[in-house]
Parts: sequence; C-alpha cells; structure tokens
Amino acid sequence: MKNNIDLEDLKTAYCYKSNKELKFTYFIFRILQNQKLVKLLISFTNSILKYNLPFKFIIKKTVFNVFCAGEDIDTAFKKINYLEKFKVKSVLDYVSEGENNDESFDANTKIIVSNIIRLGKECPGNYISVKISGLENPKFLAYCNGMEFVNDLIISPRFDRLISRIDLICKTARDSKVILFIDAEDRCMQDLFDKITETMMEKYNKDYAVVFNTLQMYLKDRLNYLNTLIEAADRKNYVPGIKLVRGAYVEKEREKAIKEGKIPPVFDTKKETDDSFNQAVEICLREFKKVDSCIATHNNDSTIHAINCIHKYNITNHYSKVRFSQLYGMSDNLTFNLSINGYNSSKYLPYGEVKKAIPYLIRRSEENSSIDGQIIDEVIRLKKEIERRDKL
Ligand SMILES: Cc1cc2nc3c(=O)[nH]c(=O)nc-3n(C[C@H](O)[C@H](O)[C@H](O)COP(=O)(O)OP(=O)(O)OC[C@H]3O[C@@H](n4cnc5c(N)ncnc54)[C@H](O)[C@@H]3O)c2cc1C
Repeated sequence: MKNNIDLEDLKTAYCYKSNKELKFTYFIFRILQNQKLVKLLISFTNSILKYNLPFKFIIKKTVFNVFCAGEDIDTAFKKINYLEKFKVKSVLDYVSEGENNDESFDANTKIIVSNIIRLGKECPGNYISVKISGLENPKFLAYCNGMEFVNDLIISPRFDRLISRIDLICKTARDSKVILFIDAEDRCMQDLFDKITETMMEKYNKDYAVVFNTLQMYLKDRLNYLNTLIEAADRKNYVPGIKLVRGAYVEKEREKAIKEGKIPPVFDTKKETDDSFNQAVEICLREFKKVDSCIATHNNDSTIHAINCIHKYNITNHYSKVRFSQLYGMSDNLTFNLSINGYNSSKYLPYGEVKKAIPYLIRRSEENSSIDGQIIDEVIRLKKEIERRDKL
C-alpha cells in the first residue's frame, strides 16, 4: 500500500486499450467537448427515441461503445473477466430506463437476480448495481416518497410488489456473496429509497455491508443524513454500506425547484458540493470500523483526500472497507493506478439494449460537455498517451 501514488501514470491508465481503441476514445471525447454539437446530438437522439428512428447502429458504434459494456450479458461478462486481468473489479449495471409496466419490472428483477447468481458463481468479488426506478414507475415512487410505509400507511399490493422485488434482489445478493449498490436518483424519490435501503441494510448487513445506499453530496441535507444513518446503524447493530457521489442531476434538480417556487435542494456552487463530498469521505473513513464505503468519483482531489484518510486513520484492511469506483469509459487514470497500487477499484459497467441505455448516455454526454466537467483533462491524457505510444 503506497501513500504517494501517481494518478497520472498514463501507461498504466490505458494499459487495457489497444492503439485503435485509444484513438477512437480520443475521437469521441473530442466530439463531446463541443457543447453545441452535443446539444444538437442530444435532440437528435431524443427524436430517435420518440419516433423510433433506425439510427441505433450509429449510437452503438460511438458513445455506447465508449461508455457501455455491450448489449448482452455474455459480452458484459467477457469485459468483467478482461478487467479482472488488471485487478480492476466491475459493478455490473443492467440498464433499463423508462420502463412502465409490471411485466417489465418483474422481467428486470429476474434479469438482475440471474446476474447476481452468475456473478457469485463465475466472478466472485465483483458487484451489482440497481436503480429502483427500474423496478417501479418513477411517478408512483415519487407519490410514495415521504409517506410512512413502516406504519402500514401506504401498504398496497403494488407497493408490496416493489418491496418483494427489492427484497428478492438483496436476499440473492446476500446468499451469493455479491455486494449490491442501490443508486441514488431524483430527490423527489430519495426519501423513499433511503427508507427502503435502510430496511434492507438492517436485514442483510450483519457482518459486512451487502447492501449500499448512495448519498448525493450535492444535496444540502446529506451530511446530516450521513451522521444520522451511521448513528442509527450503530444502535440497530448493522454495518451501513455508503456509496458517496456528488450527484448526476444538478441542473434538473435546480430547475425543478425553481419552477415549483421552492428552494433548490442542491448547493449553489461546485465548491460547496466539493466540500460536502470531501467531508463525507472524512466521516466515512474516520468511522471505518462501523461503516463500509465506496468513493465513487472522477475527481482527483477527492481521490487523493480518500487515500490520505486511509493512511491518517490507519485503515490497514482498506481493501475490504473502502472501495473506489469510476464509470466505464471515464477516468481510467484513477481506476488503473489505484488498482495497481493495491487499492480496491472498480468500473461501473452498464450493459443492455442501446435504446434503453440512451438516457444514461445522454447524462454522460451532458456531464462530459459541461464546462465544470473534467473532459479537458480526459482529452489531454488521451492525447498524451497516443503521442507516447506513437514514439515507441
Ligand atoms: C461509480 C459511480 C457511480 C455513480 N452513481 C451515481 C448514482 O447512483 N447517482 C447519481 O446521481 N450519480 C451517480 N454517479 C455520478 C456522479 O454523481 C457525478 O455526476 C459524477 O461522478 C461527476 O462527479 P465527480 O465526483 O466525478 O467530480 P467532478 O467532475 O469534480 O464534479 C462534477 C459534479 O459536481 C457537482 N456540481 C457541478 N457544478 C455544480 C454547481 N454549480 N453547484 C453544485 N454542484 C455542482 C455535480 O454533482 C457534478 O456532477 C456515479 C458516478 C460514479 C463514478
């Protein structure tokens, strides 16, 4: 375990990419750098969705290829096995956004359960992630948000079906020894997700965290929530799994609140979000005896802060207590340099039909084209590595 690790060792960062793949990734990121072009492409993509236009192959060969593991589970497993060669773990994420009926939610549950069982058998040590909005309609979830389900007030056959789906997924994860990350989504559903996830953690996180909740640290209320969660878990005698992210819906949350005449739930500035994220890292790692954590970020400073905390709090068993994770296609410099230096690092690996992955791809494209985003660094790194290889 090294303290001063070089997160800019580009040979290590891109060791898993061929020259051709590296140049192609550079080409896609150069396109994503152009905000106007990205806006145009996004409206074009929305039309593809709306009118079912036959341009799937263009998306499949471009952004899908860079940010997703493939359309089917066998291709995704090949990628998991390939990344394992570099000591990088995967968080398998079946992407299925925008579903609207019970049959699809049951089908999604079945797929996730079968993926967990297969991961446990074929690729132990890798993870799974779940979006609750893939198991129920977001409108129904938002309606239930804030209601007190533990006191039976919103118990309905439909709500029971949702809980049964989530419970089956969590139980399968526990039985298969596969760690499960429950993603955070829109704020209007998050209170409900927190309550459901806490219930599952209390049930399944006895010796270690099987189930992880995700905390979006751009939300002003999250540091308080984090402290309350750790205290409650301690009292109820379970290990909370806490995945920290900054949050993917900052503009959407702000615009929605303003439209409804409310105070936005997200911080006003990037600096406040950064401070809140880094404080949460410090709390989780300081409390490492009580908490299992996942630092999910592409931010170099936050990653270095987490490494420093591992040393400051002398977390000798950090491999099983602190995980790092980046999205597939982004910040390879962090993932691969962390793993080669003995840290537990992984890639979030989405797979699924191109059409169902489009909302995910739009989020990645918007994030990468935003001024505050880290795309400039990403492009510089890719270019440097291409030049280094060209000189060989
Ligand atoms: C492994 C992994 C899993 C993820 N899972 C989830 C998830 O479950 N739910 C989810 O919502 N997101 C998730 N994300 C995405 C994440 O929330 C961020 O959008 C993304 O990682 C960019 O943030 P960053 O920490 O990498 O750093 P940076 O690029 O340094 O920060 C960008 C982030 O800062 C915040 N920000 C930017 N400008 C402002 C501003 N003006 N005011 C306030 N805040 C601002 C936003 O959150 C923005 O996304 C995940 C990311 C990773 C790497």
